[in-house]
Amino acid sequence: MSVMTPPGIKTPGDYLENVMTIVKAKNPAEPEFHQAVQEVFDSLRLVLQKHPEYRSSKILERITEPERVFMFRVPWFDDRGEIQVNRGFRIQMNSAIGPYKGGLRFHPSVNLGILKFLAFEQVFKNSLTTLPMGGGKGGSDFDPKGKSDNEVMRFCQSFMTELQRHIGPDTDVPAGDIGVGGREIGYMFGQYKRLRNEFTGVLTGKGLSWGGSLIRPEATGYGCVYFAAEMLKSKKDTLEGKLCLISGSGNVSQYTVEKLLDLGAKPLTFSDSDGVVYDPDGINREKLAWVMELKNVRRGRIREYGEKFKKAIFMPTDIKLEHNPIWNIKADCAFPSATQNEIKAKDAANLIKNGCKLVAEGANMPSTLEATKLFLEAGILYGPAKAANAGGVATSGLEMAQNSARLTWTREEVDDRLHKIMIAIHKNCFETAEKYGTPGNLVNGANIGGFLKVANAMLDQGLV
Ligand code: NDP
Repeated sequence: MSVMTPPGIKTPGDYLENVMTIVKAKNPAEPEFHQAVQEVFDSLRLVLQKHPEYRSSKILERITEPERVFMFRVPWFDDRGEIQVNRGFRIQMNSAIGPYKGGLRFHPSVNLGILKFLAFEQVFKNSLTTLPMGGGKGGSDFDPKGKSDNEVMRFCQSFMTELQRHIGPDTDVPAGDIGVGGREIGYMFGQYKRLRNEFTGVLTGKGLSWGGSLIRPEATGYGCVYFAAEMLKSKKDTLEGKLCLISGSGNVSQYTVEKLLDLGAKPLTFSDSDGVVYDPDGINREKLAWVMELKNVRRGRIREYGEKFKKAIFMPTDIKLEHNPIWNIKADCAFPSATQNEIKAKDAANLIKNGCKLVAEGANMPSTLEATKLFLEAGILYGPAKAANAGGVATSGLEMAQNSARLTWTREEVDDRLHKIMIAIHKNCFETAEKYGTPGNLVNGANIGGFLKVANAMLDQGLV
């Protein structure tokens, strides 16, 4: 399909609409990708007025087209000796400012459109971190839940046997995401090293004794809370004593709760795909340690929290409900940390009605476009994912720097750098929002701030 601009397209709004039509036509049945592009385009209206060069160089047509997409067969034997076949993907979206960088997701819902949305978001997020990283994402429709360690290992080895052709420490450096933690990174790193005979920083999220960085497991959750603290600071407020809702119970959720406790807040909830636990007494360090053991060692379900801690209430997932009960609990702050589109318009309305003052997105694109609009209209503090959860990939960037230098930094040094990066991201988003005439709108701040650096690098590098 050509990217010629039809006659009659004059205003930035017309141009954006035209490119959006092309994106939808070229990427049919990929609603999450359309949503992620639409959200960025809504902010870019403000930029195109001032910068016609982006339009004449067709930056938007180019930035929405992945540089490269791989889709491949992943065959493996299960424990019964049966052959299983999954589909693997890697999207290399944009390398204008550095090697492709972004996580791998293993979840049955994974498809091309979901990974394209994640890779697209990653381009802007990585740009905001201040580090030299392009954007990519990958994964598989493989479900690690209920699989033995040996099955997970055989799958990871087969996945990496193909992926290794396309990645490398100066080309593309994957990390973890949903369903990919330390165990999976270990199996994939081992297979890469075996096939390539190279010990390099080709993956991040590695174990501490073989090239990993301190604070990488904590980074997304800690970073999200640092970002929330900056948002509150802009209103001369703090997290001290704030009642907080956290969805999910994986990597991001666990370390969000840990940092909230450090800063004196009161976390109230966890969830997984089976339901929500609400603990009116608050989740303290002892309960958090129990959840970490449940999820990371025993790989159990969050409903067990309700059985273990008697005052906690477990609300099973009810697909007939038009809202998620977690977002209807009275609280000051919300940290969606599970998955995309987990806050719909009704959920956003419930949060606002119950007096929620702040939403900081640990998950990627957890709010629908309608929910985002409601948050912005209500004027609450709203930290969009590509800014608020950028601490994870930023610390992956720090892991890459340590690997290149063959050094390891202390916990304090990495945490201090992460904290400073989150402060810098907030400042960039806050100031960019003001500069473009929408003070307080961190969605515009993040989209525009992330876009400008990548778009300018693309202009510098010519038509590639
Ligand atoms: P984990 O796999 O560790 O945890 C994911 C959690 O979310 C689990 O509790 C899981 O429950 C729940 N969840 C996942 N999918 C669904 C679903 N469709 N419906 C309901 N619950 C669901 O992943 P992470 O904590 O790493 O990732 C969480 C989010 O944070 C994702 O959006 C990810 O893209 C984002 N993110 C992660 C980063 C990282 O460094 N890990 C960096 C930046 C963003 P269940 O076990 O039942 O599936």
